[in-house]
Amino acid sequence: AFSHVPLAPPDPLFGLIAAHKADTHPDKVDLGVGAYRDDDAKPWVLPVVKKADALLRDDPDLNHEYLPIAGLQTFTSAAARLILGADSPALAEKRVCSVQTISGTGAVHTGARFLAKFYPRPQNQAVYISDPTWANHQQILDNVDLPVAKYPYYHAASRGLDFAGLTSALRSAPEGSVVLLHACAHNPTGVDPSRDQWKEIAVIMRERKLFPFFDCAYQGFASGDLDNDAWAVRYFVEQGFELCIAQSFSKNLGLYSERAGVFHFVSPPVADAADATTRIGSQLAIVQRSEISNPPAYGARIADKVLNDKVLFDEWKEQLRTMAGRIIDMRETLVQKLTELGTPGDWSHVTKQIGMFSFTGLTEKQVLRLREEAHIYMTKNGRISMAGLNSHNADYVAAAIDKVVRE
Ligand code: PLP
Repeated sequence: AFSHVPLAPPDPLFGLIAAHKADTHPDKVDLGVGAYRDDDAKPWVLPVVKKADALLRDDPDLNHEYLPIAGLQTFTSAAARLILGADSPALAEKRVCSVQTISGTGAVHTGARFLAKFYPRPQNQAVYISDPTWANHQQILDNVDLPVAKYPYYHAASRGLDFAGLTSALRSAPEGSVVLLHACAHNPTGVDPSRDQWKEIAVIMRERKLFPFFDCAYQGFASGDLDNDAWAVRYFVEQGFELCIAQSFSKNLGLYSERAGVFHFVSPPVADAADATTRIGSQLAIVQRSEISNPPAYGARIADKVLNDKVLFDEWKEQLRTMAGRIIDMRETLVQKLTELGTPGDWSHVTKQIGMFSFTGLTEKQVLRLREEAHIYMTKNGRISMAGLNSHNADYVAAAIDKVVRE
């Protein structure tokens, strides 16, 4: 009965990771995976996570009972304070409904499922995603049958933001469209709007009655400062938007496999907002119950300890600065080495871009040559994970890039 099922291609990113793993060359470099690596190319378990883990292990009352449907409440409310700011009026006015999800992916999915079910789209309005965006956005939206449209984002010539393209697409988007926005550290480009540009985006979105859906996978990881990286989200909330947020703790706590995330729905400041929160929460609970019943506990418990303990929280901030700082250093190192080599082209975008990734501008052909000749792995669009660079391989990578750019 299933002979019509076509063979799907393997996930390009996970295929790349496997290819790097299978490569036996001693100088191989993984610039594909979007996970933090230390200066020895090793995964880093944050010391604060180790401490939280030890506290959990020592807790004689810990058990494996189900979490509530909406997850660990002390975690989800601390997560809401983290993204919105502890003094956010939206929190004081009980306008925020938070549900623990299977990390950021699950949060995007839960939001998409909820919007597909309840968001009024009489003209079948689309969800606008940036071009390009995180590869999973399109397929998550496809899964819940929401139509997808794209807004221009990346300006290839300047290797920066196509602000004119972005704003004109939003201006012509049908009223009531949903717009998926990266809260900070845009994946894959590393290009974020400036604060003034965010303000203009907000003006257009209000005029056109567009619904913001923020995907926040890198808070604190981008600039090293949790508040700075939450600025855009907080600005939109301040402006009174009704919006939702998908929040991930994969990168900023290094909890990748533990799937700790939260979906937040923020109602606008209207008289019955607290009532809306209750109603929306009740429906999100049904979505959750029918899909995963209740979320996994371990990652949430770790994040809960870190977010709710002043000492651990301060240590975490320090460790965020370590990760963000190393990545920023690697951007500078790479540009410096390419400059020393006299590599053709302007590489200043590498230091202007922010977060885990840089869109290098390398062509697909150059990317494939780097893989074949130098055993350096990156996605075909020329995106490199800055965390894959370190003081031991930066010379090697710069020399290899220099070589393929010249030929
Ligand atoms: N959204 C964006 C833009 C991402 O880059 C990622 C991870 O790479 C995610 C969401 C979700 O990650 P996770 O499901 O591990 O939280």
